[in-house]
Amino acid sequence: MARPGNKIIQAKLVLVGDMGTGKTSLVLRFVKGQFFDNQEPTIGAAFFTQVLSLAEATVKFDIWDTAGQERYHSLAPMYYRGAAAAVVVYDISSMDTFTRAKKWVQELQRQGSQSLVMALVANKSDLDAKREVAIEEGEQFSQENGMFFTETSAKTSQNINELFFEIAKRLARAA
Ligand code: GDP
Ligand code: MG
Repeated sequence: MARPGNKIIQAKLVLVGDMGTGKTSLVLRFVKGQFFDNQEPTIGAAFFTQVLSLAEATVKFDIWDTAGQERYHSLAPMYYRGAAAAVVVYDISSMDTFTRAKKWVQELQRQGSQSLVMALVANKSDLDAKREVAIEEGEQFSQENGMFFTETSAKTSQNINELFFEIAKRLARAA
């Protein structure tokens, strides 16, 4: 619940990244606490809401998930329009998805607003035995681009709440 005098921030958050990296799974874990091993890749609700209460503000997220358009390695400008935050996702077990994530960051830098809060997310951290992307590679790229970085697992829940809380904090600071 919002406290009296507490700021309320409504923020559009978009998920970006290659198909299969776990975007939909991250959102379902955050919003519903669920995970599916055979998450349907293209079909599903593309819009979710979730509220996070911080000491300094209440952040109401409008979360836009893709419905498979990322297959074409580009998203319509209206997908980004008005976004306050963007989460760029890759899969630690696929170097290709990390290479593509860097391209998605460039696309966001072109299409997104100047003040966009950006996070780079290395998902599927539970697949460490199949790791192709070192933590340091993600860390370095995100530092160079002024992004928050974390490794997550939608499967085990690792760092999922932490990710969205950090984004909420950054939005509150910027508001
Ligand atoms: P999207 O295309 O980016 O939305 O990816 P999905 O959320 O549809 O996930 C693609 C596949 O990866 C599904 O089979 C998920 O069950 C699986 N997946 C998603 N997140 C994780 C994770 O953190 N760990 C593991 N092991 N599998 C995951
Ligand atoms: Mg999806």
